[in-house]
Parts: sequence; structure tokens; C-alpha cells
Amino acid sequence: MNKKTAVLYSDIAPDSVQEKRFIEFFREKYHNDYELIWKHDASIIKGFRLEIESDVYDWSGEGMLRQLKSAIRSVSSKENIVPLLKDKFEGWIPEAVAEEIGRVKYVGDGIAYVDGLENAGYGEILVFESGARGMVQELRENEVGCILFDEDESVIEGSVVKRTGKTAGIPVGENFIGRVIDSLGKPIDGAGEIKESDYLPIENPAPGIVERKPVDSPVQTGLLVIDSMFPIGKGQRELIIGDRQTGKTAIAVDTIINQKGKNVICIYVAVGQKSSSVAALVTKLKKFGAMDYTIVVNASASDPAPLQYIAPYSGCSLGEYFMNKGRDVLIIYDDLSKHAAAYRTMSLLLERSPGREAYPGDVFYLHSRLLERSACLSDERGGGSMTALPIVETQSGDVSAYIPTNIISITDGQIFLESSLFFEGQRPAVNIGLSVSRVGGAAQTKAMKKASGTIKLDLSQFKEMEVFMQFSSDLDEASVRQLKYGQVLTYMLRQPQYKPMPVHRQVITLVAALSKVLNDIPLEKLNEKINEMNEWFENNHSEITSAIEQSGTLSDEDRDSIISLAEEFVRL
Ligand code: ATP
Ligand code: MG
Repeated sequence: MNKKTAVLYSDIAPDSVQEKRFIEFFREKYHNDYELIWKHDASIIKGFRLEIESDVYDWSGEGMLRQLKSAIRSVSSKENIVPLLKDKFEGWIPEAVAEEIGRVKYVGDGIAYVDGLENAGYGEILVFESGARGMVQELRENEVGCILFDEDESVIEGSVVKRTGKTAGIPVGENFIGRVIDSLGKPIDGAGEIKESDYLPIENPAPGIVERKPVDSPVQTGLLVIDSMFPIGKGQRELIIGDRQTGKTAIAVDTIINQKGKNVICIYVAVGQKSSSVAALVTKLKKFGAMDYTIVVNASASDPAPLQYIAPYSGCSLGEYFMNKGRDVLIIYDDLSKHAAAYRTMSLLLERSPGREAYPGDVFYLHSRLLERSACLSDERGGGSMTALPIVETQSGDVSAYIPTNIISITDGQIFLESSLFFEGQRPAVNIGLSVSRVGGAAQTKAMKKASGTIKLDLSQFKEMEVFMQFSSDLDEASVRQLKYGQVLTYMLRQPQYKPMPVHRQVITLVAALSKVLNDIPLEKLNEKINEMNEWFENNHSEITSAIEQSGTLSDEDRDSIISLAEEFVRL
């Protein structure tokens, strides 16, 4: 049988007498023969550190001080302290409980169970002998369950595990802007190290009520359909929801591109996507100069589930760093369905009991504590904001599934995308009836509010009319005109990718369309014509376009002149 070993760390090697004394000590205390292995550690200036079984004897200078400190603290303040202190000092000898080490009991599927760490706390980071790291997620009577941030091949059963006393955190700072990082803040874009300014825990309490102020300014997406009918305010949480391949990511990316020059920091968190899709997205952002103010956090489909699980929280902490400095932040979680699935995988492996659709019972809390951290901070707190656009994928348009209903109830509204619209060519494929923004209206600029007028009502009337018009063959002229008007509005909302519209273009387009000036243009030419009209306004009537951009308002005179000028343009 192999002799058991004990490891001694010190700056100077023990001589044979000392070694003998150790062996005797082991025999006395542990009733066994141990082999003493000496390891050089120059950082131990005085004394030594001894590891045996699951005990650590920290008799280094530093360790003894630490123990002495806690011994003094344990003296109750009510008692007469001097004699007690004297007592403590005289009778005091360092003990073996200053530090714990555990051993891996079982490892597999990105999870390790460790015993011997009786005082480890939930969320604490553990370090394995190989250098791999993990986070405590399950506390049991005799063991703790730990999710691994590194490949589990590096963790061996029986190897030593140490506590760090810290919860999971992420380095943050200005230098992260323009970079692609993983869930733990490590750069993965091959552009070298990132010098951090601070280190923040990934889980933070959300700002309280008094720390917030009402949402009062817009985050423009640059997409006419959203900015006119479902405006998003700074600090708001707006869900983008739809089936696969309906243009969800496209909306998020266009919104990022539209923040150019608006002094907003964008964070795109990719969860469970292909690395190649994320790389393509980064290339696109670079092409439009949007990486200058954007950070991409990527936990790809091939990363262990724990990394996918913490990615949104890491991104959120990065966002908070900027928000707390008074900056405006836009954060996109693409997507939370995959995030919930990663959490489900992890929870099932940790043997937690499954609930509805096999998700664990706390999946609601998973997303609410994340999204609640978005806020519009009060002026006393610096006035920063963090707007969140979580994305959720539905299965055949089923918004009543577990994860969609959860997230719909946590957010301030949703942009609902529909496959059928997408295939009809109506892109962005926003379903007007099912989409809503519960706070954005308050934050919409005056110009947009005035220009968008009755568009939502007109469109829903058109939708109703369209249905029964299908059954009638000959229509009176008024109905034909009404139908055409509805079609113009619908076609007007079509917008290609990567072409966000500035506010003045949106205002001019809306005013012209809603005053029915564009009704005689053939539908297939409409978008092209609208584009030309906007260019024409910019070139020939910049006084109107710049007045809208600068003041954010639309005067009655300007509105009237847009109508008459648009009529003039259509006649050209
Ligand atoms: P997934 O479910 O795979 O994440 P998604 O819902 O995020 O998909 P996107 O990847 O954004 O969808 O878009 C799907 C496809 O539709 C892409 O090829 C994209 O280029 C195209 N697309 C998206 N929006 C538009 C648009 N406004 N005009 C034209 N094409 C678009
Ligand atoms: Mg997508």
C-alpha cells in the first residue's frame, strides 16, 4: 500500500530532526504513517504551512496573525476584556482550522462535487489543483456541488480544492470597449490583454426605487416601425421575441449601429450561439464603425453550460460599471431562451428537481434579477442608464410557453416578430397587434410623437378591413382608397438591414404618408421613392431637417411645409 503523504510548504527545507518531529506528530494525531513532502515557497517568510488530509496548518507569520485576530474577535465585548485577553494569549496555540481544503469526490458534465469544504458559501469561487476554477451552486450536508468554468478533463477525482472566499466577478473598465471577451472577461479576439480598471461581482443587487428616476428620453432603434409605434426609453427593458430566423438579432444589431455618435455604450451578450455567427456579427459591427463603442461578450454553444449561464450577468456588471459612471448603456441578451436552457442543463446535473418544462423552480428569478438591474438612475446617482433588449426565441409563435411568459411579465413591453410576415417580405416582421411598449411613449421625442399621430390606429383598422375585403369583389372608390392607404403604411414600414433612419427622416416619412401624399406611388416603388424624397429634403430643405434634429420638436408650420413639399416632390 502507498504511504499517505503530507505536504510542507516553507522557504527553508526542514532538517532531519524537524522532519522526525513532524512524522511523530502525524502518528499521534492521525494514527497513521505519512510521508513528508517538502515544497519550496518563498512567499512564506517565517514558519510553514502544512497540508495533511483535509486539514491545513497555517503556521506562517501571516497565518498566525490571522488566527490571532479571529481569536481576539471571539472575545465577547461584554466581559471584562483584559484578563480574558491575557488568558487568550497565554493559552493560545495556532490550530488547524484556519483554512479548509476539500477533495474532488466526483466530476463530470461540467460539475464537480467536493467534500471537506464545510464553510464554503453559495456562489463562492473554488480553485482546483489544476488551476481550473468553479463556482459553488449546491450546498449539501457533507459536500458542495460546484459548476466548472474550465473543461472538466483537467479536474481529477481526489485532487485538492481550495476556497477563495470570493464570489464570481469580472474585470471591468474603459479598455473593454471595442473588444470581444468571454464570460469571465478574458479577451477572445486575439488583440492582446485588456488592462482592467476595476473588478466587480457578476451578481449585484438592482438599484432601489429611490435610486431611480422615471424614463424620460428615448433610445432610438433607427427602425421606423419601432420608433414610431413602440418607442423604447432609456432604462427600459424591451423584449424582442419571435421564432427562429425572423430577424431578432437584426433588430438588435441595427439598434447598435444607430447609436453611433449618440454617446451610448453598447454591450452585446451572445449566449449559446455559433462562434461563427458571432464573428460575422462583429465583422458587420466593425464595418459600420460600431465596434468603437461596443463590447461583445460571447459564451458560445460549445462553451460549458456554466459559462453560458453567467454570461448575461457578466455583461450586466460591465454595463453597470458604465451606468454608475453616469453613462448611457444599451445591453442586448441574445438570447435568454438558450440561457434558460443552459441553466436547466446545469440544474438537472446538480440533481435539482425539475418543474414545468423541466426547468428548475427558480428560473423566473434567474431572469428577473438580471433584467431588474437595468435602470434609469436618479441625478443624485449620476443619471446613467442601462436599457436592455433581451431576445427570446419562440417555437411556432407560441408566446404562452414557460420562458416567454416569464420574460414578457418581467419586461416593459415586447416587439413580437412573426414568421409569416417575414416570408411575405414584411421586414422587420413586427406584428403590430401583439407588440407593445409600456413606458416608451413617455420618452418619445415631441417630433416623433406628433409625426406618428394615428399610425397605429390606422394600421389596425386596415388589418381589420383587409380581412373582409378579401371576400368582396367590387369595392367602392372610398374603400379602394382606404385599402391603398393601409398598404402604403404597411410598405412604408419595410426597412432593409443596416440602414437605420435618423429622426428627421422618420418624421418626414411619417408626415408624408399619414397625410396620404404617397398614396399614388406604386407599392413596389414606394421604399425607393421614400428614400429619394428624404435625400431631396436633406439636399434642398435642410432648414427643416436640421430644425427637427436640433430641437426634437416639429412645429405646425414645419409640418405643413413638409406636406406641401412632399406633394411637390411626388409631382416631380
Ligand atoms: P436566429 O433565430 O437564428 O437567431 P434571428 O431571429 O436572430 O435568427 P436574424 O439572424 O436576425 O434572425 O435574421 C434572419 C435572416 O433574415 C438573416 O439572413 C438576415 O439577414 C435577414 N433579415 C433580417 N432582417 C432583415 C431585413 N430587415 N431585411 C432583409 N433581411 C433581413
Ligand atoms: Mg439571432
